[in-house]
Amino acid sequence: MIDTDILISGGGIAGLIAASAFGAAGFSVLCVDPSAPVTTRDAEGSDLRSTAFLQPSRDFLDQAGLWRHFAPHAMPLQIMRIVDAGGIEAVARSAHDFNSSDISDLPFGWNLPNWLLRREGLARIAELDHVTFRAGVGTKSSLTRQKALAFAVSHDHPHDNISTEVHRSGGPFTLVPLPDYEGKPSSAVVWMERGPEAERLYALPQSAFEDEMRTRSADLYGPLRLISQRTIWPIISQVAHRLTGERLALVAEAAHVVPPIGAQGLNMSLADMASLLDLAKAAPDRLGEAAMLQKYERARHAEIAARVAGVDALNRASMANDQGLRDLRMKALNSFYSVKPVRQILMRAGLGARAAR
Ligand SMILES: Cc1cc2nc3c(=O)[nH]c(=O)nc-3n(C[C@H](O)[C@H](O)[C@H](O)COP(=O)(O)OP(=O)(O)OC[C@H]3O[C@@H](n4cnc5c(N)ncnc54)[C@H](O)[C@@H]3O)c2cc1C
Repeated sequence: MIDTDILISGGGIAGLIAASAFGAAGFSVLCVDPSAPVTTRDAEGSDLRSTAFLQPSRDFLDQAGLWRHFAPHAMPLQIMRIVDAGGIEAVARSAHDFNSSDISDLPFGWNLPNWLLRREGLARIAELDHVTFRAGVGTKSSLTRQKALAFAVSHDHPHDNISTEVHRSGGPFTLVPLPDYEGKPSSAVVWMERGPEAERLYALPQSAFEDEMRTRSADLYGPLRLISQRTIWPIISQVAHRLTGERLALVAEAAHVVPPIGAQGLNMSLADMASLLDLAKAAPDRLGEAAMLQKYERARHAEIAARVAGVDALNRASMANDQGLRDLRMKALNSFYSVKPVRQILMRAGLGARAAR
């Protein structure tokens, strides 16, 4: 029998971060996963998504001893640019820059590839004697509906630390800055479309795919060159009815899944862990008792439900195919962007907490 304070089921990025955070706080942790982690960019099964950690997440990662592992690979995000290309032609017809300097001295966040987060998460766990990671055998699952293609590109045009979302139909096309690749500016791309269209794009030969990317990006960065495999992800909006059970707390994607818009997914997961860790530190000998779990449920459930609903609504607006709805979407964005206090409220809400000064 294994004696441990905390068992973490799932050793994805969220599981590895939770193991580091609770381990750094002195708890003994066992993290288990049925699959062995893939920790190189070009290996089969590599997670080619990237994660933009928003400001409030950085302190949590720092306390977990992870930020010093992540920082050398992190690309700061200073501006979020929203582009509407929803006219008759696929060209940019409006662009709005949300600049982090309006609300803070720091960037909005920092972007890192997911495969690298796994590698560095495991490196951090290896430093902690009382934290153990055990991998098992693989599993297989499949889902359909709207899908996201995630991959990396290089381009001639510099990204200037701007994260750009281009809205037309089917969902956003988002470019998020990465460090240069082979001497050229590089970005992580998340391209959302209805399922069959995403599958068609996924199967295209590279040069035809690159042509489609250039059109769909409204040609903002010039030609885009594919520099990684393409990966494809089901898009789900999901929230658990409850976050707790007997001696059990759900965090991360076991508790909530959102479409990849506004870098919310893993950042919400870190807020779950921070809440649970605060409660564990406040009463370390009452771990997993009903009172602690109720406090966690109260602290997180309503906030999670609201955020999932908000991201789901943004996704539906971005999917709009009808020309009238696309025009309405652009007008709505123009009108709330033009009022500075409204713009600042939206930016703060997106970060999930008060921005650091
Ligand atoms: C295209 C895309 C882009 C994204 N971009 C961002 C972003 O910029 N910012 C952001 O914050 N979020 C983003 N997200 C969301 C973020 O990527 C996810 O929230 C995060 O990677 C999920 O990590 P996880 O550890 O919760 O889950 P997973 O990575 O799915 O890991 C779950 C782990 O659990 C294991 N497992 C499965 N079943 C069992 C079992 N029965 N027992 C034990 N273990 C099990 C699996 O093997 C796996 O290792 C994005 C998502 C997508 C699809």
